[in-house]
Amino acid sequence: MATIINCSDLAFSYNETSVLRGINLSIVPGKMLGILGANGAGKSTLLKILCGVLKPKSGEALFKDKELSKMDRREIAKGIAYIPQDPMFAFPFTVNEVVLMGRAPYIGSFEFEREKDREIAKRAMETVGIFHLKDRLISEVSAGERQLSSIARGLVQEPEIMILDEPATYLDVKHRTEIMNILRELKEERGLSIIAATHDIFSSLFYFDEIMILKDGSILAEGKSDEVINSEILSSAYGIQVTVKKENGRVFVFPNQ
Ligand code: ADP
Repeated sequence: MATIINCSDLAFSYNETSVLRGINLSIVPGKMLGILGANGAGKSTLLKILCGVLKPKSGEALFKDKELSKMDRREIAKGIAYIPQDPMFAFPFTVNEVVLMGRAPYIGSFEFEREKDREIAKRAMETVGIFHLKDRLISEVSAGERQLSSIARGLVQEPEIMILDEPATYLDVKHRTEIMNILRELKEERGLSIIAATHDIFSSLFYFDEIMILKDGSILAEGKSDEVINSEILSSAYGIQVTVKKENGRVFVFPNQ
């Protein structure tokens, strides 16, 4: 099957400090890949390369066989939606306005949005269940609602893949589950591919088709979540001895000390 994103032997440094090396990754339509790893392991940096925000120092990052670093921003935004960690919106925009901003790649520089764009924004807000918030200021909704607004903004880009940086980290268990369920529905109903960095080991077994674990900028383990979520790999990834127990498809992780 054709890949949406394909990377080979990626490396990246900030100034002279190497933060990623030897990264190979590919994702086909309708799959969900979770990226785990301790703080500083390189997850956010990798996601920024995968959505064209950062250019790799060496190696290749392709979106449907095209080199990302050679694509322009609009072209990338029509294929890839990037949802950063808790995006801050400094200006007093309404939720509806923020979601409509996702249509920018389809609207010319001197044009206003059209009826079609407003309709697409409405549908995206309905999909993630925030249409009732459309006239609220983005600065005055909860973190979970802001994250849903951000996902709706990504959806109106009509992307083939959504790349999310810790979409559920600051959320309580109800909102975290809601967001993960919405992502899974998008994957199953629309064939959207999803890559998400996450600290949520507990939900990794439920939602992700594949898991990649980064450690100090390299791939420590990858495969089906069942294969890579175990005591030995997680202890190495997080630098703390843990015990992993799996029961009825659920996973429990305990620190040993
Ligand atoms: P993670 O998302 O897994 O926490 P990051 O990709 O944010 O990891 O960071 C990887 C490494 O790169 C860390 O050592 C971090 O301090 C460093 N780093 C991240 N962003 C920058 C930056 N803009 N400039 C310099 N170093 C950075």
